[in-house]
Amino acid sequence: MANRVVITNGRVLDPSIGLDEVSNIYIMGGRVASIKASASDDSPLEEGAPGLDVIDATGKLVVPGLVDIHTHLREPGYEYKETVSTGAGAAAAGGFTTILCMANTLPVNDNQSVTRYILKQAESAAVRVLPIGAVSLGLKGKTITEMGELKEAGCVAFSDDGMPVKDAGLMRRALEYSAGVGKAIITHAEEPELVRDGVMNEGPVSTRLGLPGIPNVAEDSMIARDIQLAELTGGRLHVAHVSTRGGVDLIRAAQARGVKVTAEVAPHHITLTDSRVIGYDTNAKMNPPLRRDGDIEALIEGLNDGTIGSIATDHAPHSVIEKDVEFACAANGIIGLETAFSLVYGLVLDGRLSLERMVEAMTISPAKAIGLECGSIRVGAAADITIIDLGAEWTVEADSIRSRSKNTPYIGVTMKGRVQQTIVGGKTVFTAS
Ligand SMILES: [Zn+2]
Repeated sequence: MANRVVITNGRVLDPSIGLDEVSNIYIMGGRVASIKASASDDSPLEEGAPGLDVIDATGKLVVPGLVDIHTHLREPGYEYKETVSTGAGAAAAGGFTTILCMANTLPVNDNQSVTRYILKQAESAAVRVLPIGAVSLGLKGKTITEMGELKEAGCVAFSDDGMPVKDAGLMRRALEYSAGVGKAIITHAEEPELVRDGVMNEGPVSTRLGLPGIPNVAEDSMIARDIQLAELTGGRLHVAHVSTRGGVDLIRAAQARGVKVTAEVAPHHITLTDSRVIGYDTNAKMNPPLRRDGDIEALIEGLNDGTIGSIATDHAPHSVIEKDVEFACAANGIIGLETAFSLVYGLVLDGRLSLERMVEAMTISPAKAIGLECGSIRVGAAADITIIDLGAEWTVEADSIRSRSKNTPYIGVTMKGRVQQTIVGGKTVFTAS
């Protein structure tokens, strides 16, 4: 790696420092050394000088490396679906430079040895991988984990994601402890008694298909409970994958009265409705389920006004063993790292979201929600940078997916806006072919 890199003439958009200007970014020793407006930059670029890499970003968008605070990397335990290495490779291809992986591995990341194992695997990974520790031992919802120890080993937040924390008393204590260790609790908000055997959104489509439904209130009631517990304890709550209008309203009201609550939405929840389940495609099965138009409207409104600060993929790799089965039996979730930027950019092209807000929701906002240093290219920050060709069209093809799993409803779909180059600590980890 060259000690010095300069990215020239790109449209540098970084909401964290209020920058949107054609600029040159100078990188030294893996960090941002300076940013100069290209028009007034008279520094000699020493083209061809030894030890200097010049990356021409003319006509491209240059943003802080994307940050995904919600992925499932499946290692240890389910390496046939994804490993830390393959997941990080998919992340790099999607423009992400930092990803957080959930604790629902086998064994569960509920103790220091698992955390250390993941971090060991992450050392050789393409992007920065940070583990999220479990809230309860084995995700069983009975006994709280040693959050202090998990933090010490490198966990950056806590969540039983994949499973709701059913026991309100346990959630209360988790929020109390998390306040003590200064970390967020990420809630997978779902009231099991209202989900029961539901496999899709409850509504006219589920009735028509004859599939058991999951009502919005299953999510809303749990978000309401967790907000009240955050209010009681002073703990920091982050709501994962909000999918309902009611959830957005609850979070907005809580934020207005000063509760420490942040939220994320997944790209599929703002681009697909439950009508995608017609045909019983198991790649339309996720948890929370795809909802209805009115929910999408509210979610996008929440993104625009900042109620939902972040976009997170909920990247959930599954093999054909879990997905090529009857709809009711299929595993929940889809892969998301490689399509996230282009999917959300579609909303920008439709005039429903500003590009600035989109970039903010995929960089500084998730970083702040979890308390991470990344998401900004301010001078002195690690040079984690993504270069995007907003004009490029591409079609999602199974063969070119880098994730070990191919479970996505977007195969064959043509999208606009393509990640061109991903840079971590000044080093290029992905270049589009
Ligand atoms: Zn979840």
